Amino acid sequence: MNYLVKMYVTLSESLGIYTVDQLYELFTNRHHSMPITRHRSAIMQSRVFFFCVVFAVIVPTWSVIDLLFLPNGLWGELLFIRLLSAAAFALIAWQARREPDLKRARLLLAGMLAVTPLFYLVSDHWIHAYELNGTELVVAELYALLPFVMVAGLTLFPLTLVEFLVYAIPMLLVAVLTAYPESNGEIPQAVSTIWLFVLILGVALFASLSQLRYMLSQASHASYDVLTGVLTRRAGIEMLDLQFRLAMMTERPLSILYFDLDNFKAINDTFGHEAGDGVLKSSAEKMCKAVRKGDSVIRWGGEEFIVILPTADPNEANDVVARIMNVGLGLRPDGDPVTASIGLAEIQADTIKDWKTMVELADHRMYTAKTNGRARSIGVGGEPLLWAGVSQSQ
Ligand code: GH3
Ligand code: MG
Ligand code: MG
Repeated sequence: MNYLVKMYVTLSESLGIYTVDQLYELFTNRHHSMPITRHRSAIMQSRVFFFCVVFAVIVPTWSVIDLLFLPNGLWGELLFIRLLSAAAFALIAWQARREPDLKRARLLLAGMLAVTPLFYLVSDHWIHAYELNGTELVVAELYALLPFVMVAGLTLFPLTLVEFLVYAIPMLLVAVLTAYPESNGEIPQAVSTIWLFVLILGVALFASLSQLRYMLSQASHASYDVLTGVLTRRAGIEMLDLQFRLAMMTERPLSILYFDLDNFKAINDTFGHEAGDGVLKSSAEKMCKAVRKGDSVIRWGGEEFIVILPTADPNEANDVVARIMNVGLGLRPDGDPVTASIGLAEIQADTIKDWKTMVELADHRMYTAKTNGRARSIGVGGEPLLWAGVSQSQ
């Protein structure tokens, strides 16, 4: 038991797992954020593309070797399935150039992994129909290595445990099926082949999970602001770009709110930088609590935040602003409520063509709110919404 615990600790340390959440993230993608999933899909698709292009060239080219060393009839049969596989690889490569999407990336990877075992199964059947000897046998034996090449290829993909098993179990079945001994004498050979396959699977699993772990930790460092825990500007830009394109594609509304905390410098000047940090932290927390699960809060810079509200029209965006004004953004060190000047923008009402224009417009309205007396928002139609119960200053 002690030994098992030690093994678990060593394994989790080498994979960089320190919390239950980190462990869960390696099991399934259910808690991965949208930018991470997108990034992972992009990586998977670009690697599928690379592999498939290489295989689409190598697989038919190998026919030259077949022609030199294998009987003529067999060469012709193999050439036929080689061309078929090359076409399948080319088709998958072509599809892998499309927009990154997890479902697509998974399907393309499955397709890529399936072509070679299918090729192997058919070629194995044909090769067995011939009496081979000497060099012919050596070349034919190379075919038995194909499933190993594919399973080793899995090491290149950042996969969750569930994904890995979905790919690995059918491959293992193929390996067992083809290595299955037909006589007692073949048993040692079969056992060693399957054992080698399982070992490579183990290494591939470790490689896949550690890539995923590395990607998750890199992403969380780059994506989340250390002080407030909301998205950084960099991750926020990715999210804005993604949500904007989604809204354009689906022709659904998309609103953003541009926040700039009022008279924030005075907090730093009077109570010190740390007090300022505390206010930033609690304001960000309040914003996160006031929005829905699919909404995103971004620290755009200093004491400025952007909130993305997918599918929210200008009225709904105003409702969110009213809710935030109601709950408040916390208190300043002197006990006064923290307020902000807020500018709204909405993709359809403002007929916006790109996310940058949308941010500029919301920033511009925020500036109007600032110059009109702070502690207010300026909506899409220019309508102001005042922060109830606080005095507006010029
Ligand atoms: P206004 O109402 O016009 O927006 O006034 P303001 O004082 O909020 O505006 P200004 O842009 O002059 O001040 C922003 C201040 O925010 C200046 C900067 O020192 C402070 N700040 C930026 N980032 C941080 C941070 O991470 N921590 C702290 N404590 N202060 C920060
Ligand atoms: Mg500012
Ligand atoms: Mg400010």
